[in-house]
Amino acid sequence: MTAADPPVHRKAKSYRWDGVEVLPYKEDARALFKSITRQVLFADPAQESELRYFEVAPGGFSTLERHEHTHNVLILRGSGHCLVGHEVREIATNDLIAVPAMTWHQFRATGQEPLGFLCMVNATRDKPQLPTPDDVAGLERDKRIADFLRGSR
Ligand code: MN
Repeated sequence: MTAADPPVHRKAKSYRWDGVEVLPYKEDARALFKSITRQVLFADPAQESELRYFEVAPGGFSTLERHEHTHNVLILRGSGHCLVGHEVREIATNDLIAVPAMTWHQFRATGQEPLGFLCMVNATRDKPQLPTPDDVAGLERDKRIADFLRGSR
């Protein structure tokens, strides 16, 4: 064990962990998102992966994006809706969501409570692509997706 090693144990309180910084969701100024924070819980170089905790305030949402890397998500608190590909799903605590490569995805906190989720991801990953107006128009041809993207499901 060196000074650089992470602690063996971090205590949790209200979805905050000792010594884990609450960060902005992302630094990319191009991307549209609302009311969401990020905490990197594990980033062990030996595992080539990261486990992050995101929390979306009621009415907030993650960026609509796609990329080559995949996401594996566990909803830890609250409920809401997600878009994965052409599917809009109701999501609730303890649900699992797998986002495949190059698949449009977005998470929305559509309930009264924050939506908190763990997201497992590659440590080295490609930069997310944002939809063009044509991509959005294509998605919005499906009424359920159009309603979701407007925030009204
Ligand atoms: Mn993503």
